[in-house]
This record gives sequence, structure tokens and C-alpha cells, in this order.
Amino acid sequence: MARRKKIYEGKAKILYEGPEPGTLVQYFKDDATAFNAEKKDVIEGKGVLNNRLSEYFMTGLNNIGVPTHFIKRINMREQLVRAVEIIPLEVVVRNVAAGSISKRLGIDEGTPLPRPIVEFYYKDDALGDPMVTEEHIIAFGWAAQQDLDDIVALALRVNDFLSGIMMGVGIKLIDFKIEIGRIWDGDYMRLVVADEISPDSCRLWDVQTGQKLDKDVFRRDLGNLADAYTEVARRLGVLPQNGAPLGKPTLIN
Ligand code: UDP
Repeated sequence: MARRKKIYEGKAKILYEGPEPGTLVQYFKDDATAFNAEKKDVIEGKGVLNNRLSEYFMTGLNNIGVPTHFIKRINMREQLVRAVEIIPLEVVVRNVAAGSISKRLGIDEGTPLPRPIVEFYYKDDALGDPMVTEEHIIAFGWAAQQDLDDIVALALRVNDFLSGIMMGVGIKLIDFKIEIGRIWDGDYMRLVVADEISPDSCRLWDVQTGQKLDKDVFRRDLGNLADAYTEVARRLGVLPQNGAPLGKPTLIN
């Protein structure tokens, strides 16, 4: 592999300088972490699956007019993306109570929420990604009110899109996290969905059995994580029955 500049290494991905200005190469590792990296393991094949699944979701979003940073998949573990200025927020959308909202508010896991709930967490590992309100975000200058309105609208469109796709293959989208980036074109700024969309950052439950097909399998020691992600990929047609990767989905335009 040609030597290239590493821009950033996170828990599950590495960003390298891209082939052209304004681009980056996003490399998906097999590392799995949970509880702010207190629990760690290497899950063989996870990076390959997440690269494929994120490509699948981001391509679909691009095709319905929800802008993302995704340009194209390069190989099994890498994709070419637009360089963005990441807004330091984790944007979580919930359809059904699970995880932290269940704990914090004492709502049984699996309770449907009366409407999708959008939450913001400040991205700071040292602080454990604390939940913040729009007041904090605006006061500390992480985003403006107009940005937040646009981010909520984007997040809800992603929710509708992902919920529909997953329901089509018998999977309920419980919640998910996205990150949003800014792309500058002179003085003009656009917000796009960035980072990744994969079972690492979603909760996915089988509609019939309630079986978990997401990172909770790892967090809660419920079985083999790669098997769960392979099942999601297989149902979506990203992998055929025998598990070998299919060709890439078409990007319209
Ligand atoms: N999530 C994530 N990264 C984080 C925190 C949460 O991708 O650092 C995802 C998580 O997988 C779930 C959703 O965001 O799909 C909501 O997570 P929650 O707040 O319930 O926290 P958790 O119980 O995962 O700690």
C-alpha cells in the first residue's frame, strides 16, 4: 500500500489523506469498543461489513437527496469521502426506548416512543460524551439555531429512510446515531451526513423474534457480532446467501 498521511485514528476507523484536495479515505477497522472503550475486542470481518453497509445506506441517502460525505467505496475496507468539518455532536434519533434513555428515565426497553426523539451528545471521550441541549450547543458556538433546525430535519429524514429500509427486511430500527459535517464552498456552507451508518451505531431488532442484530450483541455479550452484522447485510442483499460480497450499489447521477 502506498504510504499516505494518516489524518486521524478513531476507535473503529482511520482517516487518511485522499487522492484529491477535499477528499479523505475512510478505513474501517475490525476493532470493537463499548462503554467509552472500557470493553475492547477485535471482531474479524466487522470492518468489511461496516464498509459495505455504510456504503449501502449512504448511497441510498444520496439517491433520495439527503446529502452525505460518501463518494465511493474503494475496496473491502476503504471508502472515498468528502472532507468535512465535523460538528462535535452525536445526533441520536430514537423510535423505541432502549439503552441510555431507558436507564435515565426508567422506561422499559422496547417501549415504543410516541414520536421520534432527537437528542444531542457533546463528542468528548474524556467527558464520556455528555448529553447537551440546544441551549448549550448555541451558547458554546458548536452550531447555530439554523444549523440545529437543519440537523434535526436531516436526522428525521435519515430516520424515515433507514426505518423503511430496515422494516422491508424484517428489522425494526430502534435508534441510531449520526454525525454531521460542514462542507464549505466559499462563504456558502452545507450540512451533510458524515462518519458512518452501520450496526455499530444503530439498534436493530428482528421484528419477529426481537433478536438484537447490532453492537449490543458485543456490549452485552449476546453472541457473535460478525454473525449478527452478516445477517443484516444478507437481508439487505449486500451479501448473497453464501456470504461473499456482491457488486456495489449504483449511485444515481
Ligand atoms: N451510539 C453510538 N455511539 C455512541 C453512543 C451511542 O453509535 O458513542 C448509538 C448506539 O449504538 C445507539 C444509539 O446511539 O444505537 C443510542 O445510544 P444510547 O444513548 O442508548 O447509549 P448506549 O446505551 O449505547 O450507551
